[in-house]
Amino acid sequence: MIRRWIRGLWGLTLGGVLLSCGQGTATQAPQTQAPTATTTVAASPTTAASPTTAASPTLAATATSEASPTPAGLSDADLAKYAPNEIGWVLVLEYHLIESPDADYSRSPENLRKDLEWLYANNFYPITLRDLVDNNISVPLGKSPVVLTFDDSSDGQFRYLDDGTLDPTSAMGILQAFAAEHPDFPAIAVFFPLIDVDVKERVLFGQPELATQKLQEIVALGGEVGTHTYTHQRLDEADAEQIQWQLAFSIKELEERIGDGYKVTSLSYPLGMFPEDESLVREGESEGESYTLSAAVDVTGGASPSPYSQNFDPYHIRRTQAVDSQLEYWYQLFEERPDLKFISDGDPDTITVPSEETLGEEQQGRLRPDLEVRRYERK
Ligand SMILES: [Zn+2]
Repeated sequence: MIRRWIRGLWGLTLGGVLLSCGQGTATQAPQTQAPTATTTVAASPTTAASPTTAASPTLAATATSEASPTPAGLSDADLAKYAPNEIGWVLVLEYHLIESPDADYSRSPENLRKDLEWLYANNFYPITLRDLVDNNISVPLGKSPVVLTFDDSSDGQFRYLDDGTLDPTSAMGILQAFAAEHPDFPAIAVFFPLIDVDVKERVLFGQPELATQKLQEIVALGGEVGTHTYTHQRLDEADAEQIQWQLAFSIKELEERIGDGYKVTSLSYPLGMFPEDESLVREGESEGESYTLSAAVDVTGGASPSPYSQNFDPYHIRRTQAVDSQLEYWYQLFEERPDLKFISDGDPDTITVPSEETLGEEQQGRLRPDLEVRRYERK
């Protein structure tokens, strides 16, 4: 039985600005390539792999799909122990407000911390969207990439207290504290801020004098800043000129604040709504300001296919909303079917995938034909 999530309408209009990221109504199955049977959680849980595997991430060289892979040099014992599966599914989690109590678009600080604990215990390792789409997934051997995304730049996502210290209940406070306790889980996250909306608590994290510092800090920690447009405008209702203005000038603002040649390359569609002419997402120009984007995230979809899958669309990367009803589904599925997770071979320059025969049927026949891939018999 495919569990289906019925989303309610959620839209908060304050001062005429619609701030919700949520799509109006979307009913969705977890994964279109997953046959019905696979989404039924099996009766016998498989114990999750130990989180103690590798401590040091391999630093990434830029890998292109055309490059000839260097053999990762994994022994048969390594392959048996870690069972790398780089055609496996990737969790891209979607957070909005970080505040109590939990609601459709709010995650409490306590539950964000619990999410991190679950991810860590199940061998996940945070990466950016940029690295996901650039074939540059650099996580330690045996770990699974996860992308932590935060839309709408509410103050609960990143807040400094009056004494100048980071608010430990804000998302960034939680991420940094967790990273300090777990050096093999860095505070890497992807933020999609708003620049001009009427709710001041959601303009660049709500503390104007600290906005630039916060953006720079996200990047300095290895994270990513993407665009969520300038004013949270629905791109399905905007004309070509408006779309290009929204993207060009939000990107310009963010890049100027971050400085140091930083390039914004990712977009989160406001309310998940995208323009009919999707070429305007990829590149465009407004009043002499040009932009190029290489990734865009949806608001629904469940786990993302691997970027090495034919099902992967970098301009419609699926996300899992960080609410109990969805997280519990994926947590349970991955605990019981860890073979469906993307599991890294520890080398961003190589792609390692079990043989077709030893892949789960949900992932058979999906590998992009243009890639050089090492196959092995998964035990
Ligand atoms: Zn939004």
